[in-house]
Amino acid sequence: MTHKEKAEKLLHQQYHCSQALFGAFAEDFGLDLKMAFKISTCFGGGMRQGGTCGCITASLLILGMTIGFYDSQDREQEVYGNKKTEEFIRLFSEHMNGAVNCRDILGKDISKPNEMAEIRRQGLILQKCPRAINISIEILEDMLLEHFKGIMDSNLELDDIPENDEMETVLKTVNKLRHFRKNVNNLLFSSQREIGFIQFDVRKFKIINDLYGERFGDQILEFIIRQLEENCQEGQFFVNLRSDVFMVVMEYDLEQDLVDFIENLDSKISCYKDVKLQMCYGVYTVEDKEMEFRQMEDRAAMARKAAKNNILTNILFYKEQFKDSLYNRKFIEENMQTAITEKQFMMYLQPKYSIAKNEIIGAEALVRWHHPERGMIFPNQFIPIIEENGFIKKVDYYIWAEACSFIKKCQEKGLNTCPISVNVSRIHLRDNECIQVLSDLIKSSGIRKELLELEITESTDDQQICRKAYQLKEEGFTLLMDDFGSGYSSLNILLETPFDVIKLDKKFIENMMVSNKGRLILEHVVLMANKLELGLLAEGVETKDQIDLLQSIGCDQVQGYYYAKPMPKEEFLDLLQKQ
Ligand code: C2E
Ligand code: CA
Ligand code: CA
Repeated sequence: MTHKEKAEKLLHQQYHCSQALFGAFAEDFGLDLKMAFKISTCFGGGMRQGGTCGCITASLLILGMTIGFYDSQDREQEVYGNKKTEEFIRLFSEHMNGAVNCRDILGKDISKPNEMAEIRRQGLILQKCPRAINISIEILEDMLLEHFKGIMDSNLELDDIPENDEMETVLKTVNKLRHFRKNVNNLLFSSQREIGFIQFDVRKFKIINDLYGERFGDQILEFIIRQLEENCQEGQFFVNLRSDVFMVVMEYDLEQDLVDFIENLDSKISCYKDVKLQMCYGVYTVEDKEMEFRQMEDRAAMARKAAKNNILTNILFYKEQFKDSLYNRKFIEENMQTAITEKQFMMYLQPKYSIAKNEIIGAEALVRWHHPERGMIFPNQFIPIIEENGFIKKVDYYIWAEACSFIKKCQEKGLNTCPISVNVSRIHLRDNECIQVLSDLIKSSGIRKELLELEITESTDDQQICRKAYQLKEEGFTLLMDDFGSGYSSLNILLETPFDVIKLDKKFIENMMVSNKGRLILEHVVLMANKLELGLLAEGVETKDQIDLLQSIGCDQVQGYYYAKPMPKEEFLDLLQKQ
């Protein structure tokens, strides 16, 4: 990610401009975000008093971190630092046409609590600060580049820096990085061969640290560094970016050379003192040597993170879609809690119809996420992610509660009430909480149990589903088997689990309709459902042909765009009232 993208992201997460700006550069200094925010908050107080734009404070902090700290013994450095400070402020004021006070930019006085509250309420930071931040980043990047060029030319040696306190360790790390980047830049510039970026880290390094202690963790890192030193030859450079993250940049001819290098390295670092170490490797092969260096690093990083989430392989080459999917994942993880508290999740309802009667016989509750800036986000974009981290439980509870209160509302209006089905993620089937939650909801809303139906998706773990399904059934709930025919062993689960209704998956119907053999299978599934006294509902029905076929083989209940798309609950209520 570029500095601008990082800053923009932080700003969207409601950080102040100084935090967003300083945070965007934090990684360059090996700082984690938490530490960066602490530091920028220290400086924030002074800024608030003087009304100075936070971007200036943060930028001066960045310059200080990069070009070295004030040194009372070193007059030259002091003068240099001052000059850079003045240069930044001059350029910034020029670009901002003199608007360098918070009041000029936001139109409010940030030192007054009531005006600050107004800034928050109106979201002024998000509206007015990006310009100042972007200008700051542009100026900073230019200045830093110029500064580094100077250093590279003067050939500063790493060991020139004495190591006696923490700040100097930070500086030493920054310098190591600089040294590495300088070497890589030279390689990119001079090499006639292909260049590959390999980034890797140790899976579950934090757990190893917790289990065996940080000293042991440090030993592992030193061990990896030693192995890298032994393995990297001419035209191959490495650096320890931070904690357990390493980067290797090397020349190669065939992609297989990169894989060979990784496999060879991996065989040497897969174990330290009897502790097994698992690495994840992300590879970016440079296409355009003119591309910004940081972008190349970022792409290798994205590939590494994707490798982390992949159970089939621990080596992945960068693909364009990683950019979107990782960005999306982060976005969701960082925004899901706010989405619950600010009621951004909404229940949509999709009607279910009887073909013969041509009327509504029920509905399925489907979640939608209305994000204030990103607009509507569909479940397929966020459900898989929140299922992984367990947050789906909260979302489901919310939708179940919404469904219950909708049913209650229908009852109060004296409408001919139809059942609403809700989705029950497989995550719930791991514990007993969901039974309690559902029973409480039924009790507190005072609705009849048979009006809230539960959709459960077949999955690999039949046993678990089966046990939970029996419990839910005992509690008196109606169970629908979702997505029948979409994957796993559907027939087995039918034998073992007390489902009431089968929902035929959209893909299953589509696949079966293209051949005579398929139509025969479909017909027999309908027969089987009838024999077993199971209800049957066809999902995702879009065409008249499908309706005709389903009707001819005796499947009367359908749900799909042919009749209606999922809609806000108010619209569905109108539809019911008209019926
Ligand atoms: P699902 O349970 O199989 O839901 C049916 C999906 O098919 C819905 O997508 C619906 O909008 C879509 N659909 C219905 N009729 C048609 C049609 O004629 N053509 C096409 N192309 N699509 C149709 P949606 O709402 O995007 O939901 C996707 C999946 O996300 C759902 O699949 C379900 O697995 C999950 N999901 C949605 N809401 C919730 C929820 O509140 N909790 C849980 N746990 N999962 C949910
Ligand atoms: Ca469903
Ligand atoms: Ca389904």
